[in-house]
Amino acid sequence: MFEQSQWVWMDGEVVPWNQATIHVSSHALHYGTGVFEGIRCYETPDGPAIFRADAHLDRLYASALAYGMQIVYPTEVLLEAMCELIRRNGFRSCYIRPICCYGSKSLGFLPNRCPVHVAILAWPWETMHGQSALEHGVHVGVSRWTKFHSSMMPTTAKACGQYLNSILALRDATTAGFDEALLMDLGGTIAEGAGENLFLVKKGTLLTNDQRHSILMGVTRDAVMNIARDLGIPVETRTLELDDLVSSEEAFLTGTAAEITPIRAVDSRLIGGGVRGPITKLIQERFFAIAVGREPTRRAWLHPVPGTTT
Ligand code: PMP
Repeated sequence: MFEQSQWVWMDGEVVPWNQATIHVSSHALHYGTGVFEGIRCYETPDGPAIFRADAHLDRLYASALAYGMQIVYPTEVLLEAMCELIRRNGFRSCYIRPICCYGSKSLGFLPNRCPVHVAILAWPWETMHGQSALEHGVHVGVSRWTKFHSSMMPTTAKACGQYLNSILALRDATTAGFDEALLMDLGGTIAEGAGENLFLVKKGTLLTNDQRHSILMGVTRDAVMNIARDLGIPVETRTLELDDLVSSEEAFLTGTAAEITPIRAVDSRLIGGGVRGPITKLIQERFFAIAVGREPTRRAWLHPVPGTTT
């Protein structure tokens, strides 16, 4: 996946891929003390454009704040750094991964004296579950691992160490033959996928949960809610029970990596007869049309990469 990526932005400069390293004594390696983002850049008729760059960068700074980490670069610098990286690597579309993490100075729990490294990677990455999953959906397994509660860690922050929970759940799910894991919250209702938020369709209404169920507040989730409203589809935010999911007409996962992926089955139960439903398809189509610059509404969600030709 990384072969086509030649350049990395690291601590203020663009460096060759092999030189973008930090020391093995780095605090982040030992304790997971980093925050990151996952962002996509899509090819549009006017050249590459970063999808919802502002929302992702806002979340990056909010994640850092939750852990008391100071990012010395202002948001404009990181935005320009992402653009520069796309230009230098010659990408038309790619996945972008900014990460801010504590480096090497001490390995006491408190990283106060450790430097904060800021790096951005970019590489071409197809949709997470594969192109065919966008049409045919994924088979999700309900995990025996519970999503950690927001009283344990700030679930709305996207922090490195927090992902061990997702990794355990995904490992079990894929070992058991599922494509993706669904985690319940401590209250026994649905939280989210290992790396995605969840939407259900019931009687023509789109249902999703929120931060009260220990989820990461996804940028794609927000995009989908706005797209639904644009299309006149009612949206309701509420607690989602497992019963709601298995009795739903349609269900799909949302995330930057997974984009909008239908769920065709949960454990042994088919959802919507096991085929992508019409509302899922409609929202997917609008989402991709906006992302690739072929839909005039929501143009403000695209940040064109200057200096790239079409
Ligand atoms: N939940 C989790 C746990 C995630 O890792 C992600 C991916 N960032 C999401 C939800 C979806 O968020 P977004 O749409 O901003 O990518």
